[in-house]
Amino acid sequence: MRAAVPRTGGFEATGHGYHPPMQVFRRGDTGPVVAEIRDKLTRLGLPSGEPGSHDSFDELTDRAVRAFQQRRGLRVDGVVGPETYRGLDEAHWRLGDRLLSFTAGHPYVGDDVAVLQQRLLDMGFDPGRCDGIFGRQTETSLREFQRNVGLVPDGTVGPQTLKALDMLRRTVTGGSPSERREEERLMRGGGALSGRTVLLDPGHGGEDLGAYAHDLSESDVVFDLATRIEGRLGPLGVLTLLTRGPDSCPDDAQRATFANDTGADLLLSLHADAAQSARPAGVSTYFYGAELPGRVISSAVGERLATLIQHEVVARTDLTDCRVHPKAWQLLRMTRMPAIRLDVGYLTNEHDATRLGSPAFRDVVAEAVVAAVQRLYLPGGGDVSEGQFRIPALIG
Ligand SMILES: [Zn+2]
Repeated sequence: MRAAVPRTGGFEATGHGYHPPMQVFRRGDTGPVVAEIRDKLTRLGLPSGEPGSHDSFDELTDRAVRAFQQRRGLRVDGVVGPETYRGLDEAHWRLGDRLLSFTAGHPYVGDDVAVLQQRLLDMGFDPGRCDGIFGRQTETSLREFQRNVGLVPDGTVGPQTLKALDMLRRTVTGGSPSERREEERLMRGGGALSGRTVLLDPGHGGEDLGAYAHDLSESDVVFDLATRIEGRLGPLGVLTLLTRGPDSCPDDAQRATFANDTGADLLLSLHADAAQSARPAGVSTYFYGAELPGRVISSAVGERLATLIQHEVVARTDLTDCRVHPKAWQLLRMTRMPAIRLDVGYLTNEHDATRLGSPAFRDVVAEAVVAAVQRLYLPGGGDVSEGQFRIPALIG
């Protein structure tokens, strides 16, 4: 049984959904929300703090939060903001804890849903991406499963369905069906780049400048970069869309919804980094991936695209290679197409800021990104060595 905890500090219980806290919780904080956070960490098997002070966020809590963030592919900072809170909430659900079904508007989200999706996939059904969100496609494939095993196809995971899922569980080796489907989609239409839709997502915007240092704002730098990428994709027959204009700032959920509504083939999210110290520098690229109990889920095509972009940018610039990482950030996870996020240098680092302040440099980065996208759609995509791929050679 779950203890009833007073919902304070911005929490608002809404049926089975919830609104994540608007504020953040970190070391030194106390109160009922901290108690709830510690309770969730404990249930996940993490020592969540000194016993006897169950509502204080102490050093052990900080360590537990970091361990959890590491495990889930979240930003590791020991701070519980909306994203980490959401992760904690989702992680504690086990398949069978609650009756799952499709509910429009407020879908069930959690690790129990991800496990259900994985089992359906393993049996050859298609619940869509294993993202832990009970959407329409999960419902459709669940009904199909129920029909197949002679149950009432009510689209609800009740005791009978749970039993059937358990009995029919089998292990699939080799590439997972979700990876194969992603692959098939990539190669649709002979794998040509022309005719594809690429959605560019410059981070922040409007009042939200993102990082700001050395007279540069992240929102301006990445918007400019997006337009340079757009200018290069057009001549290749690619339809390019942007998630925002120069002065607007949709939130991640709105960006993800827009991406899914457009049915774009790829999503490229563009950011720059900032740090407390001037030392951190370099470029990293992220793709969707997370560690759930007992297994790792990730987007294979997303990883390949992230790797190509990272290699191209590193080969063509003198930015430090901070490598490619799986992340479960909302935008990467909620979008149905392969999605990556490029963090192109630290504005707080003098070297990186000097580079990013130069239009010629941003052109080079744009060219690198476009070359990577082209390579993704080439048969045997990874064969061309980095930095050798010039765009004019591919036209005509
Ligand atoms: Zn950013």
